[in-house]
Amino acid sequence: MRLCLVSLLCVSLGFASTIAAEPDMPSLTDDNQTLPWMNGAREKLTTELIARYGAAQRARIDRGLHQVTEFWSTEDGDATVFEDFVLANFAGDQLTLNTMFERYQSLLEQLNGHMHEINREFRQQADLDNGPVLPFDELFAGYDPSAHVVDDFFNNKLAFVVLLNFPLTTLQERLSEGPSWTRQQWAEVRLAQIFSKRVPAAVNLEIARAGAEADSYISQYNIWMFHVLDQQRMRLFPAKLRLLSHWNLRDEIKADYADSQHGLAKQRAIQQVMERIVTQTIPEIVVNNPNVDWNPWTNEVQPAAEQDSDLASPSKKQIANSPEPSTRYAMLLATYQASRKMDPYSPTAPSLIARRFDEDREIPEHRVRELLEQVLTSPLVPKIANLIQSRLGRPLEPFDIWYDGFRARGAYTEAQLDAIVSKRYPTASAYQKDIPNILMKFGFTPEKAQYLANNIIVDPARGSGHAMGAEMRSEKAHLRTRVEGTGMNYKGFNIAIHEMGHNVEQTFSLNEVDYTLLEGVPNTAFTEALAMVLQGHDLEVLGLATPDPQTETLKTLNDFWNTYEISGVAMVDMDVWHWMYDHPNATSEQLRDATIQIAKTIWNKYYASVFGKKDVVLLAVYSHMIDSFMYLPDYPIGHLIAFQVEEQMQKSGAIGPEFERMAKMGRVTPDMWMIHATRKPVGAEALLNATAEAFAKLQTQKQK
Ligand SMILES: [Zn+2]
Repeated sequence: MRLCLVSLLCVSLGFASTIAAEPDMPSLTDDNQTLPWMNGAREKLTTELIARYGAAQRARIDRGLHQVTEFWSTEDGDATVFEDFVLANFAGDQLTLNTMFERYQSLLEQLNGHMHEINREFRQQADLDNGPVLPFDELFAGYDPSAHVVDDFFNNKLAFVVLLNFPLTTLQERLSEGPSWTRQQWAEVRLAQIFSKRVPAAVNLEIARAGAEADSYISQYNIWMFHVLDQQRMRLFPAKLRLLSHWNLRDEIKADYADSQHGLAKQRAIQQVMERIVTQTIPEIVVNNPNVDWNPWTNEVQPAAEQDSDLASPSKKQIANSPEPSTRYAMLLATYQASRKMDPYSPTAPSLIARRFDEDREIPEHRVRELLEQVLTSPLVPKIANLIQSRLGRPLEPFDIWYDGFRARGAYTEAQLDAIVSKRYPTASAYQKDIPNILMKFGFTPEKAQYLANNIIVDPARGSGHAMGAEMRSEKAHLRTRVEGTGMNYKGFNIAIHEMGHNVEQTFSLNEVDYTLLEGVPNTAFTEALAMVLQGHDLEVLGLATPDPQTETLKTLNDFWNTYEISGVAMVDMDVWHWMYDHPNATSEQLRDATIQIAKTIWNKYYASVFGKKDVVLLAVYSHMIDSFMYLPDYPIGHLIAFQVEEQMQKSGAIGPEFERMAKMGRVTPDMWMIHATRKPVGAEALLNATAEAFAKLQTQKQK
C-alpha cells in the first residue's frame, strides 16, 4: 500500500483533473457570464496585454483569461480586482514564466512535503508499534492539515496565477500531444491540473459522507456461517465462523478447494448466499445475526437451534424472512447521487466515470474495455477452463471463477521459513542494516544500494506493514514492517520486501525525477507492479532456492484466471455506473433489477459457455461496487501492467538498473510511461503470451 496522504494531487478532491479551454466544452463560464462586467473586462485586458507583451502572446492571453474566468466568482472580487489581478500576474515573457514555474514547483514541494511530514507524525502512534493508542491519538491520526489547501489557494488567488499562465488540458490532448511535449511542459500541465476543479466544500462533504455510509454498511455485512444450513438442513461450517461479504466469502470458496470431503458442499452453499446478497432476496434478519438458522436454498429462517455467540438473542416473535429492502443498492445509489453533484464543477470530466478514466487512470474507457475484452474473449479461456475441470475431476460450477488450485506447494514449510527469517532479522533495525545487501541481490550497484538504503527509514509497524514516501527531497521514505517479539516472521519479511519495493520506487521517482511536479508513477497499478517485482524474488534474497519452473508456470495460470474473473467484475461495475447516469431518477429497486440484469448479461456473454450455465449473478457480489466509486477496473489493469513490467525485467536480465530507469520517468500518462519502460503501450499481450507459454509448458511436463 502506498500512503498518498497529503500529496496535493490527492487532496479532498480526489486526484488531479483537467479543464479544457475549448469553447464547445460544458463550462463553468456559463455561470460566470452572469457577472455582467466579465466580458468587457476580458476584452479590455486582451488589448492591454497584447500592447504590453506583443501579439505573439495572444494565444496564451486568451487561454489564461478563459481559464481564470471559468473559476472566478463574485466573492473573488469585482471588475477592478479582476483587472488588477490579471495585469499584475500575467507572465508575458519566458524569463518571468520560468521563474514562476520554478518557484511554484519548489514551494509546492515544500508544502506537500511538510504537510506530509505533519501527517506522518500525527499518525505515528496509530501506525507504529509504540504502545497503546489512546482515543485522542485517533483524532490526531484522522486530521489532514492539507484538506483545504486547494480552497485556500483559490481564496488567496495563488490558484488563479497558475490558471492565468499554465495550460489546463484534456486527457485527449495529453494522449495525442503529450508525447511531443518537453519534460517541463509536462510538469506545467501537472501544475495546472492541481487547480482544475473548485468544488464547494459542501459537495465534497456529501461525497465523503455517502462513501462513509456505504463503507460502514459493507463493513458490518457479516454472514454467520455456522447458521447457514445445507439443503439437508445440516451445518457445514464450524461454530463462530463469521464471514464478511464479499472478501471472506470468496476467500472461503478458495480455501475450500483444499477440503476434499466437504469443500464442494460449502462452496455451493456460499454461492447460494452470494446470489441472495446480489438479488437482495437475502432475509434481512440473517445479516450479521448469529441467532437465526438459514437455509439459503429455500430461504427459510428459524431461531438458531444451537448458539455459538454471546450476542443477545432476539425475541422469537420477530423472526421472519422478509428480504433486505434493497439497502445494498440504496447505498450505491447514494454514492452516485453525491458524485453527480461534483459534475458541474468538473467541466472536462463531467461525470464520475470520466473522472475515473480520464483523470485517475488516464486511460480512456473505450481502451480499458478493449483490454478487458481481449482477456475475456481469449482462446486461452476455454483451454484453461478444461485444464481446471480435469484437475477438479468434475464439470465447472459458477463459483469456480475463484478456482485456487494452481498454487504449488513451496519447497519450504512456513515454519522453516519463519525460523530462517527470525534468526536473520530479530529486530527492525537488523532489517534496516541489511537493506544494502538485499538491494545488491536485485542487481543494484553497491553505491546505488547504499544511496537507497540511506533514503529509507525502517519503523516497526502496528499493522502488517506499509510504505510511506517522502514527498520532498529533504525527507526520507519510511518502511513500516511488522516484527514480532520473537523476530520477523516469513510473512512479515515477504511484506517488507514488497513495501521496500514501494520505497525504492518512491525514492527514484521523487529524488531522481527531473521535475518534482512529475513525482511518482502514472497510477497505483504501476507502483504495485514495481513492488511486486521485488516481492516475487524474496526467497532468493534469503539465499534459498528460486521457485521451480512448475511453480512459476502455475502462478502464471493462476494470475490469468484471476484476471479473467476480475475483468467481468470490472465490466459490471462500469455498466452499472453508466446505467445510473442514464437513469438519474432511478429508485434503489430499479437499480437492483438493472444490476442483476447487467451481471447476467456480462455472464452470458463471457462466462456462460465456459461454465455451462446461464444467468448467473455472481459477478455483482463485490463490495467495492457498493462503496468504492467504480474502483474495480483498477484490478485487471493492474494485472496487465504487472505482467508487462515483469516481462521487461526478465528480458533485461537485471532488475536494479531497469527498475531505476522505469521509476525515474515520473507521472506521465500510462502509455507514455509503458512505452518508455517496455517500448509498448499498456496492453494485454504480455499476460496472454505468458499464459500461452505456461499452458504449453504444462502440457509438455505432463507428457514427460
Ligand atoms: Zn503495495
